[in-house]
Amino acid sequence: MGGVEANQPPSKRIKVKRSSSSPSDIIESSDLDSPMAESLADDTIGYKGVRKVEFVRLVAESLHSLGYKKTGEYLEKESGITLSSSGVTEFAQQILDGNWDESLNSLRKISGLDESVVKSSSFVILEQKFLQLLNEHKVENALRALRNEISPLSINMNRICELSSFLLLSNQRTIKPKPRSEVLRDLQKLFPPNVMIPELRLLHLVEQAVDLQRDSCSFHNSLNGDTSLFIDHNCGKGQIPLHTSQILCHHRDEVWFLEFSHNGKFLASSSKDRSAVIWDVDLDGKLKIKYELLGHKQSVSCVSWSPCDNQLLTCGVEEVVMRWDVFSGKVLYVYDKNDLGMISCGWSPEGYSRELTTKVSQCRI
Ligand SMILES: [Zn+2]
Repeated sequence: MGGVEANQPPSKRIKVKRSSSSPSDIIESSDLDSPMAESLADDTIGYKGVRKVEFVRLVAESLHSLGYKKTGEYLEKESGITLSSSGVTEFAQQILDGNWDESLNSLRKISGLDESVVKSSSFVILEQKFLQLLNEHKVENALRALRNEISPLSINMNRICELSSFLLLSNQRTIKPKPRSEVLRDLQKLFPPNVMIPELRLLHLVEQAVDLQRDSCSFHNSLNGDTSLFIDHNCGKGQIPLHTSQILCHHRDEVWFLEFSHNGKFLASSSKDRSAVIWDVDLDGKLKIKYELLGHKQSVSCVSWSPCDNQLLTCGVEEVVMRWDVFSGKVLYVYDKNDLGMISCGWSPEGYSRELTTKVSQCRI
């Protein structure tokens, strides 16, 4: 991290090297006519107009986030492009050191922050100062900080009331401030990205590219871990299963629906024959019957696994939805249709029955 303000024009954000011997040799360039500064600021790479300055800053941020601090600093030195301004670097270090008052002074000197960001950031910092004082049993100092520094900000009044209650509780229980790295992360979310680059931004962009490639893969048939960054993702027709490996014979009429559990250990099938079946998937991929689920008076149109795969919903056409325990094969609950035309069922990601808005027991796995 180095020493220019990130909201300055691109040519002013550039630093140039006096020599290549150490990071301290990097100097700020405020000379708009400097050919080197101009060329760095206007440089793009690839064919989409990606700014070289932004790209190098993202790589440097990734190196620092991955713990390769020296390599990150060397990149800044060699490229002449700094990760963030010296003011931001100093501010971040003061947060990590818990120097709250100094960090507030530094915050006000950082360019590119509007008043609302300064206010919100001050609140985050002062909240930690208050909690640390309480943690150190300096109740009077904490009260002074709350009255004279936090309250005058006039934001987040609910939290101020909550902090006030901590004053009364400080003798009864330990008040702990947040880890400082988390405080810095909270502040990072408030700052504009050109002032403080969001953590692991480059990884986020790579993940977006991977998602996009997988979504546009016409014959997608692979797991997350199978994707390599070295080549563009493409499953190809060859990965579509072409040969029959097993024929499952149990249902006595048409099979209407099939669904594997999220963990891949079970398969559930439903049929016009008014039954559903839970199948065990062996380690070698072979299936064998685990439970036949009987009780529906109508054909079973749909099955749905709970997010934790410990329960299963089965839906009888225009009849009822039944919730089953996967490990015993017993019915846990029967939901009536309540005059609804019922042909399907599902779960919300939190583990609640989506169709019937009835609370379902918590996951046990
Ligand atoms: Zn694919």
